[in-house]
Amino acid sequence: MFISFEGIDGSGKSTQARMLAEALRNEGHEVVLTREPGGSPGAEEIRRLVLEGDPDRWSAETEILLFTAARRDHLERVIEPSLAAGKVVICDRFADSTRMYQGLSRGDLRAVVDQLHTLMIGREPDLTVLIDIDPSVGLSRAKGRQGTEERFEDFGVGLQEKMRAGFLSLAKEFASRFRVIDGAREPDAIAADVLGVVQLELKS
Ligand code: C5P
Repeated sequence: MFISFEGIDGSGKSTQARMLAEALRNEGHEVVLTREPGGSPGAEEIRRLVLEGDPDRWSAETEILLFTAARRDHLERVIEPSLAAGKVVICDRFADSTRMYQGLSRGDLRAVVDQLHTLMIGREPDLTVLIDIDPSVGLSRAKGRQGTEERFEDFGVGLQEKMRAGFLSLAKEFASRFRVIDGAREPDAIAADVLGVVQLELKS
C-alpha cells in the first residue's frame, strides 16, 4: 500500500508520517518511510539543486522538470520495488505537492504538471493524508526549524493560504484517495485519526 502525506509547510505532516510508520511497524507491517523532493540518492541531489541557493535559479517550468525527474528516480528505485515486495510505503509529499507548489505558486502550470505526470509517473498513492492547518500556525512552527524557513519565507503566508486552499480543492478532486485531517491539535490526537483511516483502508 502506498500512502502519501501532504500539507503546507509546518503542518506537522513529517511528524505524522513518522508516527504512522512506527505504529504500523508495531502492528507487524514492513514499512518504508520516504520523502519528496528526494527519497533516493539521485532525487536527493535534485532536491539540493532546487531547494538550496538562489530561489530564482530555475524557471517554474524547469523546476517542474527537475521535480518530475526526481520523482521518476524515486519511483523506480525505491517506491515500486518496495511495493512489489509487499511493503507499506509512506511518502512525505508526492505528486500533489508538485500540483500545488510548482503548479500554482508561479502562475497556472497545473496542466503542465499533469501532462508530465501522466507521461513519466503515471501513479497515484492509494491513500493521501492531508494534514490541514492554518498557515499562520504552520509558519510559527516552521520558523523554529532550520532549512525550510528560507523557502517558506520566500513563499510567505499569502501564498501558503493559496496552497492550503489548493490542497483542500485537490482533496475534493481526488476524493476517493484523500482524507483530510485537522492538524491544529496535539500530535497524538492527530496520529490516532491518521492510524484510523489507514487501518480502514488496509482492511478494505
Ligand atoms: O516538506 P519539506 O519541508 O521537505 O519541503 C521542503 C520545502 O520545499 C518546503 O518549503 C516546500 O514548500 C518546498 N516544496 C516545493 N515544491 C514541492 C515540494 C516542496 O517548493 N514540490
